[in-house]
Amino acid sequence: MHVRDDRRNEELTESIDALHARISGAQRELLRLIAEGDRRELWRNSGARDMAHWVSIRHGISDWKARRWIAAAHALEGLPHLSEALSSGELGMDKVVELARFATAETEARLIRWARGVSCGCIRRKADLAARQSIEDVRDAEKARFLSWWYLDDGRRFGLEAELPAAQGAVVAKALERLAEELPAIPGEEDPVYADARRADALVALCSSRIAADADPDRATVVVHAPLDALVSGDRGCELEGGGVIHPETARRLLCNGRVQAVIEDEAGQPVRLGRTSREPSAWMMRQLRYRDHECRFPGCGARRFTQAHHIVWWERGGPTDLDNLLLVCTFHHKLVHEYGWAVRRDADGTARWFRSDGSRYRAGPGPPSQTTVERRPAIAASGF
Ligand SMILES: [Zn+2]
Ligand SMILES: [Zn+2]
Repeated sequence: MHVRDDRRNEELTESIDALHARISGAQRELLRLIAEGDRRELWRNSGARDMAHWVSIRHGISDWKARRWIAAAHALEGLPHLSEALSSGELGMDKVVELARFATAETEARLIRWARGVSCGCIRRKADLAARQSIEDVRDAEKARFLSWWYLDDGRRFGLEAELPAAQGAVVAKALERLAEELPAIPGEEDPVYADARRADALVALCSSRIAADADPDRATVVVHAPLDALVSGDRGCELEGGGVIHPETARRLLCNGRVQAVIEDEAGQPVRLGRTSREPSAWMMRQLRYRDHECRFPGCGARRFTQAHHIVWWERGGPTDLDNLLLVCTFHHKLVHEYGWAVRRDADGTARWFRSDGSRYRAGPGPPSQTTVERRPAIAASGF
């Protein structure tokens, strides 16, 4: 039941302040007892590994926070001013715990004045820099490094998790950020809110260029098991070697690239065709294609890295792997054609015309409004893969 407190605002503020000061005083006392408990090794024979573990289990405090508390509890014994700042409520627990990581008897008075005017995060950053890392901490971070992945959502999604020492993580972050800036955006995803999605794209682009450059084609090939009727009708999934399930449209896009081995299977699962051998553009043809198209042929894209050959008429529908039927597109605009329902055709004079999924012609920039709706994609171009 909601009971209205009819104290005036000033009184309410005072009451909150007073209560906070009492809690802070109690927290100072709690830290004193915890330090004593640590000296007596209270945690022994109680199912805990150490004092932090004991506090964590017994009081429901996160292990990380319990470790900070215990370190602060010991440090405060040599920091009378900071100890008093907590007891009186002048500084809150979180600020005091961070300050205790690097304050000394000489600096504590000055640091308390500084800390009153800055945020907890600011103090934590200063503490992260000032607290001397032991070489054991460095080794622990090194030993704890890992990267793992798994398929979820019935094989339709891929999860990835990693933890690295900060210096190595910074290399990963730098590479992904720089690549994400270079990648062309999918129309509608230019906004900064898609930054996360673009970092994911950057990771894929990075890995895919590594696979393309691998000297051992057999080991660096992504294998797709595609039932023939799924590719034609598009009504059931294709299987990636290693566990993933992909939409037939995605399989078709992968089949447009090299370094994907398509095992096209009949109903009994017998391989009826090995895709890559029959339709991967040769190195010579790719050179010619790059020479002819220069860059991704999506209007205004201009990407030269991460470009691939797209089969305008998909090879399974009789589209040949020859230059007239190929178009250079970047990974992202390749996705538009396959997964996003866009279409592209190449006129005899070499002009590439792009059509949105609703059939309207796409032009870079704000074109004349009449033209965007008048020119419709010819029905036959809908089969462009
Ligand atoms: Zn394609
Ligand atoms: Zn492009």
